[in-house]
Amino acid sequence: MPFDYDLFVIGTGPGGSATAKQAVFYGKRIAIAEQETIGGTCINRGCIPKKFIVYAADFALQNQVASNYGWDNVGGTFDWSRLIKAVQKQVEQRNNSYKQQFQKAGIELLRGRATFIDPHTVVVDERKVTAESIVIAVGGHPNKPNLPGIEYAITSREMFQLQQLPKRLAIVGGGYIGVEFSSMMNAFGVEVTMMDNDELILSGFDDDIRSSVQTGLIERGIKFLAETTAKEIKKTSQGLQLVLSGEVNSAINVDTILFATGRSPNTKDLCLENAGVEISETGAVVVDKYSRTTQANIFAVGDCTSRIPLTPVARSEGKAVANTIFGEAPTKLDYNYVTSAVFSRPEAATVGMSETKAREKFGDAIQIHRTEFEPLFESMTARNDQVMMKIVTDSKSRILGAHMVGENAADIIQSLAVAIKKGITKQDLDATIGIHPTTGEEFLLIED
Ligand SMILES: Cc1cc2nc3c(=O)[nH]c(=O)nc-3n(C[C@H](O)[C@H](O)[C@H](O)COP(=O)(O)OP(=O)(O)OC[C@H]3O[C@@H](n4cnc5c(N)ncnc54)[C@H](O)[C@@H]3O)c2cc1C
Repeated sequence: MPFDYDLFVIGTGPGGSATAKQAVFYGKRIAIAEQETIGGTCINRGCIPKKFIVYAADFALQNQVASNYGWDNVGGTFDWSRLIKAVQKQVEQRNNSYKQQFQKAGIELLRGRATFIDPHTVVVDERKVTAESIVIAVGGHPNKPNLPGIEYAITSREMFQLQQLPKRLAIVGGGYIGVEFSSMMNAFGVEVTMMDNDELILSGFDDDIRSSVQTGLIERGIKFLAETTAKEIKKTSQGLQLVLSGEVNSAINVDTILFATGRSPNTKDLCLENAGVEISETGAVVVDKYSRTTQANIFAVGDCTSRIPLTPVARSEGKAVANTIFGEAPTKLDYNYVTSAVFSRPEAATVGMSETKAREKFGDAIQIHRTEFEPLFESMTARNDQVMMKIVTDSKSRILGAHMVGENAADIIQSLAVAIKKGITKQDLDATIGIHPTTGEEFLLIED
C-alpha cells in the first residue's frame, strides 16, 4: 500500500523545519507535526526571546556609563511587562512566518502530539498517517531535580512569562542558560545569586573563558556560590527559602528560583518502542553518523539526540538528513569547529578545542597565545571590563581553537571560525591587516 507521505517530520523546531524545507527541493510529499507553538524552543522560549531580553538589558549597562560619554539624565524606568509583550509579539510574527513558509512550500502542518504505532505509522491527534521515512525532531525540555519544594521553582521556560521582575533571584546551575539569565537579570537590578556544583561556571568551555566570565559577573554584582547546590525549597511569608548544600551549607531567601540544570530529550511519550527506535539511558535517540536510528527508515536530529544542543547544529542535521534520505549519497556533518557563544555580559564565544582538550590530544606540543586588555570603550569608564582572547595551536602553528570573552565575542569568533576550519595558522592571523580601532583586530596582534 502506498504511504500517505514520503516524509513525516515530528517537531517544527530548527531541526524539523530544516528537514522538511530541504526535502521540498526533492519534490516530495511532506507533513510536519507540532504539539505546541510553531518553531520549537529556539523562537518561542530560547535563543530569540532571550536575545531580545539581552538587548533590553544592554540599555541598563550602557546607561550606567553614559555620563562618562557626556550624557546627562539617561536612564529612566524600565517596564518588564512592556518588554515581554513586545517580545511575545515578535515571537508570534515568527510563528506565523513559519506557518506561511510551510504553506507556501506545500508542507502539510498537523497540529497535535505525534506518537508511533509502527515504523511507518504515526498518530497525531487521533489521525493516523503513514510515511516512507520519518524524522524525529522533538527537541528537549528543562530538567527539574526531584527535591522537596521543587514545585515552587521555575525553569527557563517560565522565565519568559514572568509577570514581573523578582527582587531576589536564585539561579541553580552555571551552564550557559543560567549564566545568561544571571547577567540579564542583574542588569535589570535584580539581586542575583547563582550557584554551581563546580568551582567554575560554564563547564565544557575553555578554563580561561570560565574564569573570565565568572570574574566579570561577580564584578557586576552577581553573588556566586561555588561547589554549592540546592537541597530543599521552603515557602515562607517573605517568599522562598532555598536550602543549600555543598561548600555553602546554609539557606538564602529569595522571591524566585530558577533551575538551569540541563535539558533532557522529549522522547518519553513518543512510543518509540512501537517503531523499534532505541534510546540511550538519558533518553536520547540513538543515531549513527547519518542521524539514522536503529530503525532504517527513521532518523532523528537536533536536541533529542543529545549531540550538540544548538540551533545551527539542529538545522544542519535536518538539512543533511533530507539530503541523505532523498539525495544521491548519505550526508554527514563535521562536528569539529562548531562555534558557540554565551550572551552574558561579558559575552563569551568559542570555536574548536579548549586548551584542556588540546592538551589531552596533543600533549605539551600545543602552544597557547593569550592576551588580555581593556577595550577602548571601557577606557572612558570606571569599569574594570577586560577582553580576553586566546588561541590554541598545534606544533605546526595550526589553530586548534580560539576563545574570547568581551564585547562582540560571538560575532568575532563566528567570522574567525571559517578561517580556522579551513586550517589557518597563527602566522596567517599575524599576516592579516586588521580594521582599526576594533576589538577584533587584537586577534591579529597577539604576540607569540
Ligand atoms: C533558554 C534557552 C536559550 C537558548 N539559546 C540558544 C542560543 O542562543 N543559540 C543556540 O544556538 N541555541 C540556543 N538554545 C538551544 C536551541 O533552542 C535548541 O538547540 C534548538 O531549539 C533545538 O532544535 P530542535 O529542532 O532539536 O528542537 P526544539 O526547538 O526543541 O523543537 C522541538 C519541537 O518538537 C515539538 N514536539 C515534541 N514532541 C512532539 C510530539 N510528540 N509531537 C509533535 N511535536 C512534538 C516541540 O513542541 C517543539 O516545538 C537555547 C535553548 C534555551 C532553552
